Amino acid sequence: MATKGTVNVQTENIFPLIKKFLYSDHEIFLRELVSNAIDATSKLKVLSASGEVKGDLGDLKVEVILDKEAGTLTIKDRGIGMTEEEIEKYINQIAFSGAEEFVKKYEGKEGAEQIIGHFGLGFYSSFMVSSKVQIKTLSFKEGAKAAQWESDGTPEYEITDIEKADRGTEIVLHIAEDSLEFLENERVSGILNKYCKFLPVEIKFGTKTIKEDDPSGEKDENDMVKKVDVEVDNIINNPNPAWAKAPADLTDEEYKQFYRELYPASFEDPLFHIHLNVDYPFNLTGVLYFPRLKETMEVQKNKIQLYSNQVFITDSVEEIVPEFLTLLHGVIDSPDIPLNVSRSYLQADGNVKKIASHITKKVADKLNGMFKNDRADFEEKWDSLKVFVEYGMLTDDKFYGKAEKFTLLKNTKGEFTTLEEYQEKIRPIQTDKDGKLVVLYANNLDAHHQFITAAEERGYDVLLMDSPLTPHYISQLESKLENVSFARVDADTLDNLIKQDVEVPSKLTDEEKEKLKPIFEEVVNKEKFTVQFENMSETDAPIVITQPEFMRRMQEQQRMGGGGMNMFGSFPEMYNLTVNTNHPTVGSILKKQKGNKQKVAKQLTDLAMLSQGMLTGADLTTFINRSVELIK
Ligand code: ADP
Repeated sequence: MATKGTVNVQTENIFPLIKKFLYSDHEIFLRELVSNAIDATSKLKVLSASGEVKGDLGDLKVEVILDKEAGTLTIKDRGIGMTEEEIEKYINQIAFSGAEEFVKKYEGKEGAEQIIGHFGLGFYSSFMVSSKVQIKTLSFKEGAKAAQWESDGTPEYEITDIEKADRGTEIVLHIAEDSLEFLENERVSGILNKYCKFLPVEIKFGTKTIKEDDPSGEKDENDMVKKVDVEVDNIINNPNPAWAKAPADLTDEEYKQFYRELYPASFEDPLFHIHLNVDYPFNLTGVLYFPRLKETMEVQKNKIQLYSNQVFITDSVEEIVPEFLTLLHGVIDSPDIPLNVSRSYLQADGNVKKIASHITKKVADKLNGMFKNDRADFEEKWDSLKVFVEYGMLTDDKFYGKAEKFTLLKNTKGEFTTLEEYQEKIRPIQTDKDGKLVVLYANNLDAHHQFITAAEERGYDVLLMDSPLTPHYISQLESKLENVSFARVDADTLDNLIKQDVEVPSKLTDEEKEKLKPIFEEVVNKEKFTVQFENMSETDAPIVITQPEFMRRMQEQQRMGGGGMNMFGSFPEMYNLTVNTNHPTVGSILKKQKGNKQKVAKQLTDLAMLSQGMLTGADLTTFINRSVELIK
């Protein structure tokens, strides 16, 4: 007997709409159908556990079967199945109106593809790729009769009685002419791997050949048991991923193994992990990993995968976790994140907000715990962690509040201090006459070697701040910490960086300085260099070239795109050329003959340039020739 009917007459053209909908993401139909199969299987397990279904459940594997010749893709489960009445209710009514509501809501709307996960279409998403769909099903209920539902993508459907021995449901998709890609083995296995890799019931897709010991035990020439080819089920998923287990049941090695399973292309182990496990007031599980961060941060970003009950949803979670956390890797799984809303709504969602702040707190607590429990280990990991911590402190005030206790500063000798320890230790040494603690830092040990040595000779401490975020980070510390200012060690002479009240006398008179100034101005580019005098010690360098802190920072921030000063055009390169009034060679210049005055001034300036790596090209050649000349 066959029953014909029409699903919901209100929307005659719903099938073409489904077909058109989310054009780029047709592949999600497979996720929807396989999830349904898993659900039906899980329901059966629950019924069996409660005694409502008796006896052995048999093999519960879900199977995805490709038949290229017949042009079909079949999703087969051994779950609860459906009776004819249930098909009527769940497929013709509930599922249909659900799909209809979903499509109507987003039809033609801009950003329809922005709907996270594209959840909501369910069973009817199969019509995105099929010209005809059949459901063959036998309910677990005693005495149930098998039934088949069939529709060719018009609102008409037909239900017939069929013979079916096995309990469960088979969804047979007759793949449409324009969707033949879904008959390709590679394509289907790619989709399964993307969306179904961690579904909780085994999924079989074809078979594969593996090598096994020959059962006869026959040995080869090396006295090893011979291997034979054995054909086994190709199971595409791991039904028991780490995040679905209890932390107590996992070893460190198993966490690492899971990392490799998530990122097969990665050849480095993560630094450590955090296991998330909340069930109130929202449901959240997951494992987050701290990768070893590289300079190339962008590459490592956005690797967190979002799941909902082990179904893969997306790997772009920017709207769900604070930006700095997108540097982490791993998995978060929450059925409480709304999946059928557009991305722009997500951040406003109450659950999403709670989840985001929970994760932030967990991450901060983990770092704090590591800092407290094993500081030496924390220090050792710091170089790989600092960009993450700085990024968090810069972009998330709550995180700053927690991180200020464990964030570390490292000096050029490799010693670590917290913000508090540093201030306590360094304030007595590096406070200027206005009571400000001047933090000296370098971002490159080699390039700043001369300046670092000079500072250390005076008993100052120089921090090594070489992260890509340093320019922004120090601005933030200056605004958060009281009475602290940062100066790169090459920004000025030490006496100017940390101004004290002591006056060093000058060996040059004002008149002599007046005469010297134009001589130096003549040997440098006046647009770029400001010539100034300073009474340093005799043993300091005769000429010091520095780049003022403010100018350099503006340039750096502009380069990073965060300066916001574009209205002034780009920042010019500006340097100070400081002449040491107390250096004997400087004093001797005025006593030289006319032409030689310039020559010595130029030689001294070039030496200063050389030490800054600023002497190149023709200038360098001239300098070398002149030096050879002078030695003669
Ligand atoms: P959802 O899964 O979100 O409820 P679907 O449109 O995917 O919506 O499915 C509608 C209903 O059809 C399901 O809730 C379920 O009752 C039934 N169903 C779908 N697939 C199966 C299946 N493989 N086995 C048993 N019932 C199914």
